Amino acid sequence: MNHDNRIAEIIDSIEAVHTNDQLSIDWKGRYPEAMKLARELGMPPEKMAEPNCLTCQLEVLNTLRTSIGLKELRNEAERSVYRARMDVCHGNEERGIPRCERLAGTTKLKPTFPFFQIKDANCTICGCFVAAKANVKWERCELNKWPQ
Ligand code: SF4
Repeated sequence: MNHDNRIAEIIDSIEAVHTNDQLSIDWKGRYPEAMKLARELGMPPEKMAEPNCLTCQLEVLNTLRTSIGLKELRNEAERSVYRARMDVCHGNEERGIPRCERLAGTTKLKPTFPFFQIKDANCTICGCFVAAKANVKWERCELNKWPQ
């Protein structure tokens, strides 16, 4: 089976699962294959492909989709939503919101992310770069701290 057919088959087989307004992707066990294909297609190493990270999974999915001429899934959060989320992660003095104590700086990240601990960039709960995560409309704070 050629690359394009394999990609089309993966895209056809996966399922978007919505639970309480949140999205997850059921890759039917094919995420490692999808990730490998996305890397072969040029998805750069600085783009993480962590299996537990929805932002990463959407990056992989969009790399596959565009490679066979499909449109990217539009997944950006509205700017107001993004800003409100970032205020919770980084804090906002003007709005009287304290910085989240889970933002990297003092706590160790999960072992799968040891080299990605960048001060004020990563969440120590999920390991994501909060700026990337907050920009994806379907993402959620695992501690439910973001505004609904
Ligand atoms: S995503 Fe949630 S837990 Fe992580 S830094 Fe932001 S507010 Fe804190």
